[in-house]
Amino acid sequence: MNYNHILIRYAELALKGKNRKEFEKKLQDNLKRALKKFPETKVIRSFGRMFIELNGADEEAVSSRLKDIFGIHSFSPALKLELDQERIDEGALWAIKDALPEERGTFKVSVKRANKTFPKRSQELNYHIGSHILRNTKELTVDVHNPDVEVKVEIRDEACYIMCKTRKGAGGLPVGTAGKVMLMLSGGIDSPVAGYLALKRGVELEAIHFHSPPFTNERARQKVEDLARVLTRFGGRIKLHIVPFTAAQQEIHKKVPDNYEMTIMRRFMLRIAEAAAEKNGALALVNGESLGQVASQTLHSMHTINEVTNLPILRPLVTMDKLEVIEIARNIGTYELSILPYEDCCTIFLPPQTKTRPSIRKAAAYEQAIDVDKYVSKAVEGIETVIIKHDTNIEKEFEDLF
Ligand code: ATP
Ligand code: MG
Repeated sequence: MNYNHILIRYAELALKGKNRKEFEKKLQDNLKRALKKFPETKVIRSFGRMFIELNGADEEAVSSRLKDIFGIHSFSPALKLELDQERIDEGALWAIKDALPEERGTFKVSVKRANKTFPKRSQELNYHIGSHILRNTKELTVDVHNPDVEVKVEIRDEACYIMCKTRKGAGGLPVGTAGKVMLMLSGGIDSPVAGYLALKRGVELEAIHFHSPPFTNERARQKVEDLARVLTRFGGRIKLHIVPFTAAQQEIHKKVPDNYEMTIMRRFMLRIAEAAAEKNGALALVNGESLGQVASQTLHSMHTINEVTNLPILRPLVTMDKLEVIEIARNIGTYELSILPYEDCCTIFLPPQTKTRPSIRKAAAYEQAIDVDKYVSKAVEGIETVIIKHDTNIEKEFEDLF
């Protein structure tokens, strides 16, 4: 005997009506895509729940892939059996032995009998199956209040399902249910985490990266592609837009006083990101800013930088401490990549003294000396787009992190 199904429980149960349908459909599509390397599996929706039919695929391997998929609250390996008392007794016994191979500890049986035509009633079944387990194991005892293992038996119209283990899912909403965003992806620790958290809320993600060759090198670019590839574990393929930012940066460096250089550079980044977002149908920008972390992320700074765009900017990390961000980065497998040494375009020309309280008035005045539209549209025209595909090899490296 072996588990032949996985039962999936949705996160966000409050969803109703049309939204719920869309949610389920998306989740089903995402699961199919995520399980491509298990072609024998089937993803089935039935009566407000979702099942994966394993058809011989390894339950542990499939489960470890499921942990990356948003929209799942929890999931359980399940034994689907025909509605036959003897088979059910056997199945429950196998499942408890699988969960407690030493046959030591406590358990309880919880029967749900949705199929009212099944001969025995729930209470009777609890007792019957429990006794069968006790008779056929060494040192198991029943504890109805706080058992080591709960053997859940669901008697439904089409079959019986037996489950003993519950695994935690990734939570959130299925990717693709919330519209598209443009992630500003640097090679640092924060922005990949911001992208992960945005994906968790169901957005479809594209990414934009500002690159300033020859001041930033190919390795920096490669690193960003590698980071985007890690994110594909959670949301599938990602379009990555690489912006040639050298000309704009040099012009800013030439024309703007040192202490406003960072502010103006950020304003340019936002203008370019906004144009790219609009071109690609993204409804918001996402970045890795956290309040007060560095000079460019004070409230005054955000206020002045934000002024150039009307697009919503999502900042999933805004209230987090650096250590909290690092913990997520480690869990999702971006941290080790992010700490590799590299030059970000933000750091190349920047003087040490950045203003922590830049004003909109002064920023706008300094920009008078630059042909803003020209540099923005040049950068936008020069964007090179690459598609980052999901690579199943990376799954192995990070499997044990959860
Ligand atoms: P990160 O760790 O994400 O690089 P950070 O703490 O280094 O963030 P900043 O360098 O101030 O902070 O950048 C703030 C945000 O601006 C980043 O989180 C990212 O969203 C965006 N950003 C910075 N540099 C780039 C870049 N080269 N390309 C795209 N986005 C960038
Ligand atoms: Mg950075």
